[in-house]
Order: sequence, then structure tokens, then C-alpha cells
Amino acid sequence: MKVHNAEIVISAVAPKQYPETDLPEIALAGRSNVGKSSFINTLIERKNLARTSSKPGKTQTLNFYLIENTLHFVDVPGYGYAKVSKTERAKWGQMIETYLTQREQLKAVVSLVDMRHEPSVEDVQMYQFLKYYDLPVIVVATKADKIPRGKWNKHESVIKKALDFDKEDTFIIFSSVTKEGKDQAWAAIEAAIK
Ligand code: GDP
Repeated sequence: MKVHNAEIVISAVAPKQYPETDLPEIALAGRSNVGKSSFINTLIERKNLARTSSKPGKTQTLNFYLIENTLHFVDVPGYGYAKVSKTERAKWGQMIETYLTQREQLKAVVSLVDMRHEPSVEDVQMYQFLKYYDLPVIVVATKADKIPRGKWNKHESVIKKALDFDKEDTFIIFSSVTKEGKDQAWAAIEAAIK
């Protein structure tokens, strides 16, 4: 998709704040610092629409972006910040769970993992959670530019094995530096919202 229009619609914490439309939605989830904002900005060809909203202390919200009046990207706050308190973590969990399990027009979840490392316990939990609820997942392995091409297959296998990757899902090797995987990511998203 060639994007000319992308804008933030709302930062929501509760279902009553979700936009009242039936446009399809694609959620994006990942550990803080995985490259989620960079992924969104690459797809919509903006330098800085999606900001890193996952820093500790900042309000943890679901950010809805309207794309080409066709779909919403829903930026889920990043997980994996050690400094976040138990109470905050529980609130985060509840907000995400409510959205992911109850939103009818949610078509797929882009689950971002850092391609350089084995998925973290939380990465695995997130993927398994999504699979438990039968949600289609597009796994995006970020920062591919930091790994020599000759090692890509190996890294892909390690990640798939750790996640117990479902063959029905899509796996995309991505870099916001080289734009590797951008077209594939759009193709997967467009297939999911059809
Ligand atoms: P977020 O917290 O998941 O939204 O992550 P950001 O998009 O803010 O990225 C975190 C850091 O990783 C920043 O310093 C980015 O410049 C860097 N980064 C993100 N994507 C890539 C990538 O594809 N390649 C490289 N080399 N660095 C990246």
C-alpha cells in the first residue's frame, strides 16, 4: 500500500474510547525498543508519526492510527520494561487482553521480535497468547541489517523454534534501515484485512 494519509486518531485505555468504526484493525506488539515505531514509520513512509510511547512513566495507551481511511494500526505499548511496577504491569496486561480478545475488527497482530536474539520469555508468551485466541500473527523479525545475510536462515529457525511457530502464520525478515521486508509486510497486512 502506498500511504499518503496517516494520522493518530486516539490514544485509548478503555473500550469506550476505541474508534467507533468497523474499519479493519492490525495491532502491533513487541518488547520496548524492538523497533516497533520504526516499523510503523517505515510502512507509512513517515519519519516520526509513531513515537516510542513505551518509556516507563509515560501513560500506557493503545494508539490508533488511521491509514488511508482504510484501516487502523493499533500500536500496543511495549512490554519488557523491568522498572514498571507490578500494578502497572497488571493494568497493562488487562488493557491489552481486553483489546486483543474483544475487538471484533481485529484482523491480525504484527508481533515484532529482535532478529538478533532468541525470543524473550515475554515474546514467547505473547505469541502463545495470540495463538490461544486463534489470532492470525505476522511475525516481524527486526533489525535484519545487523545480521549478515548468510545467517538469516539460522536466525529465522531459532526464532520459529522458540515460538513454536504456526505454519499458517507469516514470518517476515525486516529492517527499517534497508527497508528489507517492507513490501512483504504490506502484502501480509493487505491479505489479512481482505
Ligand atoms: P520501539 O521502542 O519498539 O518503538 O523501537 P524504536 O523504533 O524506537 O527503535 C528502537 C531503537 O532501535 C532505535 O534506536 C532505532 O533507531 C533502532 N532500530 C529500529 N529499527 C531498526 C532497524 O531495522 N535496524 C537498526 N539497525 N536499528 C533499528
